[in-house]
Amino acid sequence: MTNKFPNTKTVYGPVKSWRFGMSLGIDPIFETSTCSFNCIYCQLGSIEVVTDLVKEYVPTSKVLEDFKELIKKDIPIDVITYSGSGEPSLALNLGEMIDGIREIKPELPQYILTNATHLVDDSVRKNLLKLDKIIVKLDASNEETFKSINRPAPGITLERVLEGIEKLKKEFKGEIEVQSMFMPINDKHLEDLALLLKKISPNAVQLNTPKRPYPLSWHRENRGNHELIFDYEVRDLKKVDEKRALEIQDQLEEKTGLKIYSVYR
Ligand code: SF4
Repeated sequence: MTNKFPNTKTVYGPVKSWRFGMSLGIDPIFETSTCSFNCIYCQLGSIEVVTDLVKEYVPTSKVLEDFKELIKKDIPIDVITYSGSGEPSLALNLGEMIDGIREIKPELPQYILTNATHLVDDSVRKNLLKLDKIIVKLDASNEETFKSINRPAPGITLERVLEGIEKLKKEFKGEIEVQSMFMPINDKHLEDLALLLKKISPNAVQLNTPKRPYPLSWHRENRGNHELIFDYEVRDLKKVDEKRALEIQDQLEEKTGLKIYSVYR
């Protein structure tokens, strides 16, 4: 595939994460935005390839070369995070990447941000079990809101996501966190979300609200970028304001007894 972007690296950042410090992003998808969801708030814009296909999207050797090149610069890094141009667990060779990076920098913890659509798949879980922390996305507490906010590939349901998280919980020794995006569309089902969160019982829950407008086209620079606004067309997203976000945080804390983080507190 011809490369239309100047940035040809599968490793990006490090970007400052408010939770994890300096986070170096690894992009196991890379060529174009590819995900089993097409979330209405995605920082990548509308996903170019919405698919549930697990395959090798970029060779492990390229990721490891890009990683070695970046760490030569001696930039402080606290954590490695698999994320990037879509859903990282769709990469069949993710486990090889994790092993390769661990061999080069064993002291760095490795995390993933995943939409959890493929945790029901034994081979995908086998890859993820190599990580130190798994952050799963859960934005909806019913199938209708799930479809409206996450716009999944055909056949992917909230039930499947929850089943996958349950399987993962039984096998994974590291920490599991839940990340939920709050927008006016899913603000109304807090009771149901609290019940699901209690059942999952993660180590922590991270509440987010969209930080940037929605890009109207795919640019590789969209990966991991929360600060810079590039010169391309964007659309504003409907957000819950800070006051409401704090109320949601308080209510979820009270209803679940879990540790809830948000950008606001
Ligand atoms: S799961 Fe992540 S990458 Fe995929 S569409 Fe949603 S926000 Fe974008």
